[in-house]
Amino acid sequence: MRALVKTDAGPGLTLLDVPEPVAGINDVLVRVHKTGICGTDLHIESWDLWAARTIRPPLIAGHEFVGEVVEFGSNASDLHRGDIVSGEGHVICGRCRHCRAGRWHLCANSIGLGVGRDGAFAEYVVLPVTNIWHHWPGIDEEVAAIFDPFGNAVHTALAFPVLGEDVLVSGAGPIGLMAIAVARHAGARHIVASEPNAYRRALAAKMGATRVVDPRERDLHDVQVELGMVEGFDVAMEMSGNAAALTSAIANMAHGGGIAILGIPTAEIPIDVTTIVFNQLSLRGIYGREMYETWYKMSVMLQSGLDITPAITHRFSFRDHEAAFAAARSGDSGKVIMDWTT
Ligand code: NAD
Ligand code: ZN
Repeated sequence: MRALVKTDAGPGLTLLDVPEPVAGINDVLVRVHKTGICGTDLHIESWDLWAARTIRPPLIAGHEFVGEVVEFGSNASDLHRGDIVSGEGHVICGRCRHCRAGRWHLCANSIGLGVGRDGAFAEYVVLPVTNIWHHWPGIDEEVAAIFDPFGNAVHTALAFPVLGEDVLVSGAGPIGLMAIAVARHAGARHIVASEPNAYRRALAAKMGATRVVDPRERDLHDVQVELGMVEGFDVAMEMSGNAAALTSAIANMAHGGGIAILGIPTAEIPIDVTTIVFNQLSLRGIYGREMYETWYKMSVMLQSGLDITPAITHRFSFRDHEAAFAAARSGDSGKVIMDWTT
């Protein structure tokens, strides 16, 4: 099969012919239809410090995918050939304290698809049956391909109650964009999106932000005044990894507010603990998705009218992976999809 492989410790990904993976007794073999490119894939492709520390080549990259079931092991039930499925990219250990308590998303030993085991940038991928998510018939396969980052957005957006609340989303990358739509769907009042990139600010408005600002030009306090807000944001979603964005979120929260932090900073961030204490803020780190409550929430929100399709901006054949990665890296893009069937 064709696969995008990190062959050695260094920059680049190579499209190669490699053997098809084989499903073990607990596994499902999926013919990949479409994949999404994530920031993690960009790190692996460019071979930055994180990648050099984490990745052991050779490795097939990629973890956002949709495809169809072609084969499954003797322990896998409730599956049929041709079922349209995606996969949770964190393969849990099943043995740690949290796994045994059913809190799978808190597993201390999870292994990442396309990070610690061969991934989905390939014609076929294998995952344990417990990682497989069935889509309902007729789902838009582009949307299904990005359930992984959509799940990051849902997990973050629902970390604190947003019904009727004023919400700050800092960073309108693909995940921030989807979080805006989720917060809107879940009944937020004002959603202020803060994003330096003009292309992404325009997308943020399309996704349902009340106000979209460039943090280099606008102070969030002034924006609050303009909107008639008096006590600060009730909920903030930090989706940029940027130090200034977190600092500014902390400074603009209402008393008792909640900040859900998904963005991954590249260095330590000094924070104003005094404000966190006196304003009684809750800061919560968000990693991945809840297995499988987030997946359930994604499916039912789509069925009840949530539309994340404006966040998908570019489509390529896997053969044009270099152009696809360039589009994802440019910043002038939302979600970038690669098709593995054409
Ligand atoms: P992205 O890098 O495409 O988007 C981040 C956005 O933040 C960019 O559009 C950038 O212009 C913007 N930004 C930069 N400085 C800013 C500032 N001062 N204020 C507001 N916005 C600013 O990333 P993404 O794919 O949308 O992911 C969002 C973040 O979540 C990234 O940091 C990523 O590493 C992280 N992530 C975390 C998890 C997890 O499980 N915790 C999973 C996936 C991604
Ligand atoms: Zn575990």
